[in-house]
Amino acid sequence: MIHYPMKKQMSKYNYLALDFDGVIADSIQECLVVGCNAFIEYTGKGNKITNLSSLDLKDMSEFRRLRYFIRSGEDYVYIQLALFEGANIQTQQDFDRFVSKKAHLKQTFFDLIYQERERLLNQFTDIWIQLNPLYDGMREFISQFTHREHFAIISTKKQIFIHRILEGHGINFPMQRILQAVENRPKSQIILDLLKQSGLEPAHFIFVDDHADTLIKMKHTAVTLCLAGWGYNNDAQKTRVRKACLPVLTLDQFYQTMKTCSHNEKSNQT
Ligand SMILES: [Mg+2]
Repeated sequence: MIHYPMKKQMSKYNYLALDFDGVIADSIQECLVVGCNAFIEYTGKGNKITNLSSLDLKDMSEFRRLRYFIRSGEDYVYIQLALFEGANIQTQQDFDRFVSKKAHLKQTFFDLIYQERERLLNQFTDIWIQLNPLYDGMREFISQFTHREHFAIISTKKQIFIHRILEGHGINFPMQRILQAVENRPKSQIILDLLKQSGLEPAHFIFVDDHADTLIKMKHTAVTLCLAGWGYNNDAQKTRVRKACLPVLTLDQFYQTMKTCSHNEKSNQT
């Protein structure tokens, strides 16, 4: 289980930052629909969809397996391309190699994915929200988080979409605390900037992400890192995270842990 640094040190509070997809929202259906439509737009073949009923079951299960390797929005279109080409992708390295061989498509896929997302949001708002359900208990957790100013979302997804999904689930989350990671400002840099601004000791900054490599690469920040075991990661990735001495939490453990943090926060303030 996670070790709590909060009791030993003297920071006034803990700061919690969560990744969005695979931590707050189970967006796999939306990503499948949007990725599929973006690929149809790219090839000019096929009919766009608003739900999963017309999709091939085998493709859907392959998509779910490959979802573990996603790093950024355009990767959903790369998955469609991999399925189309029948590429053999078993590991993160395989996927990264596949993407880098076709790096010239990156910007096109990025633009297409966001164009399709925007189209769905504007033309089929309710359906789009339903394709992005929140994990059990997450709505209540976010709504009831005691110190909202110590809570941020750090994701590669554009802020506006995160804001609209949360709004669709009855949560008004401030835009300025939704921080988008981009290639030249990755999540680790955002966290280092937040640490600098707040003067907080790194151990009091808690970041939860569901992508194993992202977390392992962030160890140099010395912040408290946890893998969202309920998100998009497989057993091999969980094992790698544990070997890197980072905790893998279930959703229940996450709520339990954050409750403890919140209690410490209150006791630190008195
Ligand atoms: Mg994620």
